[in-house]
Amino acid sequence: MHQEKQEAQDGRILLYEDYNIRASSQPNVYGEKFVLRLLKKNTDIRNIFELGFPVEEKELKKSITKKNSITIIAAPTGEGKTTTLYSIIDYLNSPEINITTIEDPVEIRISGLNQIEIDSKSSFSGALRTVLRQDPDIILVGEIRDKETGEIAIQAGQTGHYVLSTIHTIDAVEVITRLRKMGLSDYDIASTLATSISERLVRKLCPECRRERPFNKEEKEIITSIGKRYGVEFDLSGTTYDAVGCKNCNNTGYFDRTGIFEILDLNDELKEMVMSGKSSLEIRQEALKHGYRPLVVDGINKIIAGKTTLEELNKKLLIY
Ligand SMILES: [Zn+2]
Repeated sequence: MHQEKQEAQDGRILLYEDYNIRASSQPNVYGEKFVLRLLKKNTDIRNIFELGFPVEEKELKKSITKKNSITIIAAPTGEGKTTTLYSIIDYLNSPEINITTIEDPVEIRISGLNQIEIDSKSSFSGALRTVLRQDPDIILVGEIRDKETGEIAIQAGQTGHYVLSTIHTIDAVEVITRLRKMGLSDYDIASTLATSISERLVRKLCPECRRERPFNKEEKEIITSIGKRYGVEFDLSGTTYDAVGCKNCNNTGYFDRTGIFEILDLNDELKEMVMSGKSSLEIRQEALKHGYRPLVVDGINKIIAGKTTLEELNKKLLIY
C-alpha cells in the first residue's frame, strides 16, 4: 500500500506463516480508517456437506451442474461465501473438466484449476473476456460487482459455460433484485440464472458443555409461527440445548461454526416471473410453493438437530 496516498486502498500483510492479513483503508475526516481481516493460509478446502449444506448430494448435483447457466452465492461479507464457492468448485473438480477461476485475490490454491488473480491493472470483466476466448467448461468469477462483469458472466452462461459467482446481498431471492439494480435485463437474468444460494454462519454449541432440556413454551410459539409462515411443520417433541460454557469453549458455550443455507432453484414458472418483471416479494411467495425454504428454516432444523440455539439464530436473522 502507498504510504502517502489519500485514497481508499487494499493491501496484504504477509508477515506470518499461517495467516494473511487483508487490509483495507478508507480516508475519512480524521485520517484513515483501516479494516483488517485475518485469513488462515492454506486452509484445507472443506467438504460442502461438512459445511452444513442441507440437501442430499443428488439434489446438490442437480442444482450445480446445469450447463448454460449461472449459480450465484449471496451473503453479506464474512458469512462464508468464498468457502462455499471453493467447496463447490472442489466438488466439481476433475481432470477431464477445464475450470478457470478469476479471483481477487486467490485465497486458496487448488491443483487442477487455472486460477487467475486480478490486480490493480486488471478487472473481473477484462479477465473474464480473455478467459472466454480460451473456452473453459466452468468459470468461477470471484464476485459480480458491476453491470459489466454481470453482463459478461451472463454471456458466458448463455454460450455453453457453467458460471459460478458470488454477490453481496442478503438472500437468494434478492440476487434477482441486485442483478436488476446493476442494470441487467429481466430476460438475461431469467435465461441464465439457474440457482442462487444464500448462507449465514452461526456458532455451534460446544459439545462438551451444552445442556439438554425440552423446548419451552415461548420457543415453541416462535418456531411454530415461523413454520406456519413458510408452510413447514417442525417436530418440537425432542429436546434443545442451552449454551453453558467450559474450558473447551473458552466459557462461551459455543465452539466452531456451521453454515445455514437456502437454495433457490429457478424453475420455468419462476423464470417466467422474472421475465415479466415481477417483484422479489411475488417471486418469493411463488418459490415457497416450489420447495424454496428460507435461511431461517434451515436454522431451525439445525436447532432441532442440537447444533445451535434459537438465541444464536436470532442474533443472525432477527426472528423475534
Ligand atoms: Zn464448552
